[in-house]
Amino acid sequence: MTTMNLVVPCYNEEEVLFETSKRLLALLERLIEAGDISNESRITFIDDGSRDRTWSIIEALHAQNARCGGIKLSRNRGHQNALLAGLMTAQGDVLVSLDADLQDDIEAIPRMLAEYRSGAEIVFGVRHKRTTDTFFKRVTARNYYKLLRTFGVEILPGHADFRLMSRKTVEALRQFQEVNLFLRGIIPLLGFKTAIVEYERAPRFAGESKYPLSKMLVLALDGITSFSAVPLQWSTRIGALLAIGSLGFGAWAAYARIFTNLTVPGWASTVIPMYFLGGIQLLFLGVIGGYISKTYAETKQRPRFIIEQTL
Ligand code: UDP
Ligand code: MG
Repeated sequence: MTTMNLVVPCYNEEEVLFETSKRLLALLERLIEAGDISNESRITFIDDGSRDRTWSIIEALHAQNARCGGIKLSRNRGHQNALLAGLMTAQGDVLVSLDADLQDDIEAIPRMLAEYRSGAEIVFGVRHKRTTDTFFKRVTARNYYKLLRTFGVEILPGHADFRLMSRKTVEALRQFQEVNLFLRGIIPLLGFKTAIVEYERAPRFAGESKYPLSKMLVLALDGITSFSAVPLQWSTRIGALLAIGSLGFGAWAAYARIFTNLTVPGWASTVIPMYFLGGIQLLFLGVIGGYISKTYAETKQRPRFIIEQTL
């Protein structure tokens, strides 16, 4: 029989953990009663270096109910690394990752399990609508997914990190040793038979978002530079275009100087290109710098997470 493990990263989630664990345990019990999953099924909470009572709550939950397990990271490493720590550590035949705030509809989990039964190794939870997100988040997310696609990154619009993975695919993921992690982009690269389950995303029932704009931006940039070298190619293209363009401009200047008397002692023609080219150069130095810093981080091969304690 299938053993399920729910993998839940938590960062400062003291406000939601009791309610979340109650709902998840009820779901597990229901599935166990129905004979869909084995009695060894578990929940694994990963404390991503929280500064509030998150870890002590996880310890209490563990003491109350052996189905609740916990992993404590030695410090905050961000949602993606916390999730990875959970996936790499949790036992079980199928791992389902979901957020601690239960914005992802847990009633989609039995449907994911059904897809797994009919042969899918990875089941992606995909948001039906985005009506519960703020207008800002909706617009930025939609355009970001479009941008990723134009960069050639395979990504499933509307899918965040709510998914079911079979043991086989988790072991495949283990072979990806990237330090700069963007799971949403890596999982589709694994291959295997996949399926999609649609659900509606609820608003957070308590607490605040742990993803401020700054963290969102970092994740967004990671997504691009971890999977696509297109921005690097741009610099060559734009550089070539500018070079050709400036040759034309030079020809025109020579023509104006020799055959007409339109030439004014050239302030504009010197200063504007200086700013323009300076700007472009700096921009692409930045782009190149982005990739170099990634390479730097990858060559150091530092651990992606450090586990301090396991329950
Ligand atoms: N999270 C984490 N580490 C972080 C930030 C967030 O483990 O540094 C977890 C958080 O506890 C939650 C999930 O990632 O389970 C998603 O965060 P949140 O719900 O705040 O993001 P939003 O839904 O607002 O995008
Ligand atoms: Mg959330």
